[in-house]
Amino acid sequence: MTVIEIHNLKKSYNPGKLAVNDVSLSIQKGESLGLVGESGCGKSTLAHCLLGVEKMDAGSIVYNEEPIAHANRKQLRNYRRNVQTVFQNPTASLNPKLKIRDSLLDPYLQFKDDLQLKHFHFTSKQDFVQQLLETVELPKGLADRYPHELSGGQKQRVTIARAISIEPKLIVLDEPTASLDVLSQGAILELLGSLQQTLGMSYLFISHDLAAVYQLCQRIAVMKDGELLDVFRKEEIYDSNRHDYTKELIDIF
Ligand code: ADP
Ligand code: MG
Repeated sequence: MTVIEIHNLKKSYNPGKLAVNDVSLSIQKGESLGLVGESGCGKSTLAHCLLGVEKMDAGSIVYNEEPIAHANRKQLRNYRRNVQTVFQNPTASLNPKLKIRDSLLDPYLQFKDDLQLKHFHFTSKQDFVQQLLETVELPKGLADRYPHELSGGQKQRVTIARAISIEPKLIVLDEPTASLDVLSQGAILELLGSLQQTLGMSYLFISHDLAAVYQLCQRIAVMKDGELLDVFRKEEIYDSNRHDYTKELIDIF
């Protein structure tokens, strides 16, 4: 079953140069799709179009068999709930004035009337916050701290907990480990892998780092200069018919 389909997406910021040039991709239920390519190739632009942060010039995004462009308010709200995000810089993603508990509860409070959670069962908001912290392997005492009191890796765990709190169908992770030290990077990748096993959601995992993508993802899409060059299952990475550019990426990883 397909969670989301992107059809022929085009986006340019400046006339004459396409940041994303006719990209089509789909993500299956429970699948982790890696999107890899060098800096500036258009990965974030694709993510921003998917999230509605940027308006696309052409193409369509289909969620639940329905083009988003035709969605009514209720369907759009459902889409926003089911497609959550984790960005590169957790400091910028967390409100510095809110305690961790309040950041964690934010999506839940926004969407609670629409929610029927399957994984999280709780008796109070306090209990829910504790479960979320536990799920991302953070000490429960962090609930009453502020973001500046946490390490980068801890903050990124909070943004991950917040994203999974409303049990979305898809999480778009745009370079989620790029701002972290190598040890935290590995730990976050492991966490993301195990969360996917327990919660069953899909990921669009964006990274310039093929090794990270290879570790986490079942399928890999390669972009260069706005174009999608290659899409393959992880087991096919060393196949002889891989795109020459994919082979270059493999050589340096
Ligand atoms: P990536 O995430 O793969 O590093 P981006 O999607 O950020 O790539 O960028 C793709 C291209 O679009 C680059 O040439 C970049 O300079 C340009 N770009 C990205 N965002 C903007 C913007 N807001 N305004 C103008 N150009 C942009
Ligand atoms: Mg980017």
